[in-house]
Amino acid sequence: MAVNRTVLVINSGSSSLKFSLVQPDSGLEIADGIVERIGDDPSSARVRFGERTVSRSCHVADHDAALRLAFEMLTEAGGDLDTVGLVAVGHRMVHGGRRMYAPTRLDDEAVAVITELSPLAPLHNPPGLHGIEVARRLLTDVPHVGVFDTAFFHDLPDAAARYAIDREIAERWQIRRYGFHGTSHRYVSEQAAQFLGRPTTELNQIVLHLGNGASASAIAGGRAVDTSMGMTPLEGLVMGTRSGDLDPGIIFYLAREAGMSSAEIESMLNRRSGVFGVGGAIDFRELHRRIDARDADARLAYDIYIHRLRKYIGAYLAVLGGADVISFTAGVGENDAAVRADSLAGLQRLGIHIDETRNRAPDSGIRRISADDSPVTVLVVPTNEELAIARDVVAVVDLISPEAAG
Ligand code: ADP
Repeated sequence: MAVNRTVLVINSGSSSLKFSLVQPDSGLEIADGIVERIGDDPSSARVRFGERTVSRSCHVADHDAALRLAFEMLTEAGGDLDTVGLVAVGHRMVHGGRRMYAPTRLDDEAVAVITELSPLAPLHNPPGLHGIEVARRLLTDVPHVGVFDTAFFHDLPDAAARYAIDREIAERWQIRRYGFHGTSHRYVSEQAAQFLGRPTTELNQIVLHLGNGASASAIAGGRAVDTSMGMTPLEGLVMGTRSGDLDPGIIFYLAREAGMSSAEIESMLNRRSGVFGVGGAIDFRELHRRIDARDADARLAYDIYIHRLRKYIGAYLAVLGGADVISFTAGVGENDAAVRADSLAGLQRLGIHIDETRNRAPDSGIRRISADDSPVTVLVVPTNEELAIARDVVAVVDLISPEAAG
């Protein structure tokens, strides 16, 4: 088997473009980079290849220029796309609707289907499509594969997936819970099972993906049975700048009484809400600094965040009829011991016993933070969405050309 097959994973946002070069067989990420503030003056770019990192601050007009710049900087850092054994490009796509869930080769027909889905995810899918279009133009010799954030939740039970609204309207407008961060929830649940030496089919798991975006999932025997994000990534937990759950009546009230347009309300709930909207800081390190300085708004933001998280943990313990494992992942989940301790404090009656020494230990790998005799095992599991995407991509590539697998 060729051991150094490399996949270029691209994550294209509205004003940023991230990429990684991942070798799915070894799990090694040989390069990564980001171009931020595309369209601004200046934009900023950073690319690492192996140990070497190069940075630039310059005007980058659009995503096409961003990808060209990223490749140029990769060369400058000593990397070369022609010699790394590139077998495919994987594109992280946020919304796959009902039709797109398996990792899919992005030919013209697939791109047309994803384009049709854009109204379902107007903030996320158009930039993703833009990334596909640019990369397909620049890299014509390798297959491009889309991997969908919604895929892991495609088979949610109807009781969890459907909203209790007019059935005909729901069907006509494809209104249902799609769920997001699925690549991470699946990867983390598989890593947790492997760490415990148990098959996923034997475990009831709760995964808490706490990054800037945040979501929780309930997974029974390897199958997702509920998740906190919904029709869009706005529902559920409190996030960096997103509100998570709220009474839909608030939206009509603001439209009627405050005269806000739907675009203004959407922007407020997505960009000026969450811990930032209440507490004035997105980053949890800054939020803790403010709390230490007795900032009441920061304290309230943190308290709302923890309260919501505890509600979902309780809900999913009930949905699953008890959990074997609870895993924390992503920027906040992996790094913030206070969030982990506070969200599970006082739950001994539910079988959850955190070992505070383990929880506070400054480790970075997968680790247990519950006491040895805790009926529920609590883990910190670093997520690796790029690796999970790269593995999905080579599985598709192997189907296209079995000889490519060696
Ligand atoms: P994204 O959703 O953008 O992928 P990440 O998973 O990278 O987000 O999480 C980013 C967030 O993680 C930051 O905004 C910050 O709140 C949090 N974070 C990162 N490092 C730490 C840390 N050492 N302590 C507390 N929070 C951290």
